[in-house]
Amino acid sequence: MVQFYNVSKVYANGVKALDDISLKIDQGEFLFLMGPSGAGKSTLIKMLTREELPTRGQIFVAARSVVRMKKNEVPKLRRNMGIVFQDFKLLENKTVAENIAFAMEVVGASSRDIRTRVDEVIGMVGLKGKETSLPSQLSGGEQQRVGIARALANRPLLLIADEPTGNLDVDTSHEIMELLYDINRRGTTVVMATHARDLVRAARRRVLTLERGQIASDTPAGEVEA
Ligand code: ADP
Repeated sequence: MVQFYNVSKVYANGVKALDDISLKIDQGEFLFLMGPSGAGKSTLIKMLTREELPTRGQIFVAARSVVRMKKNEVPKLRRNMGIVFQDFKLLENKTVAENIAFAMEVVGASSRDIRTRVDEVIGMVGLKGKETSLPSQLSGGEQQRVGIARALANRPLLLIADEPTGNLDVDTSHEIMELLYDINRRGTTVVMATHARDLVRAARRRVLTLERGQIASDTPAGEVEA
């Protein structure tokens, strides 16, 4: 699903954010991305979405070279991805259903497909009955569920979650994790950046830890980090 070959990223100011990263993420995997602030997690995610290009190396997502890809092919790449944010990034003046529908409208889905799919993903994230609520009328956990539903709307192959539980309390975080595992079980590859050590330990999924732009450890699923 994702391959990095000797990827380095040096920003214009000379900071080396990624230093010779090689890595493979299989379809259907769930991968936690950890590491201290400044280690390169966000930069690695920006390589996947092509918000930034690497200075060196090759990156493939769904068998396509992200580096060689032409600008006009980038929207197609991003349609294969759903992104979940720490601060939800919902449109405050739109309802739950409208927030999700919007993600489909921008990629040109038909209104019929939108209606069916919005219902479907609202059911998947457990928000039936909240369709016409505004984000401000929802709890943090509910808002994140909307964020996840929106990310799923276009049936992505890869779900990228950037500290999705960073603004949530412990119990709500667990609920959101269960939802992400459920989505993963249904076949979507998940990459989740997080600082939540306890949560990662309990999960027993693959953990990739970055330090100063390098891979400090890569612990397979089922094992607990040292
Ligand atoms: P993390 O997400 O793990 O906190 P980042 O990928 O955001 O790490 O940052 C890695 C390094 O790259 C840091 O030293 C950061 O200051 C630097 N950096 C990140 N984005 C930029 C940018 N747009 N321009 C210059 N330096 C950047």
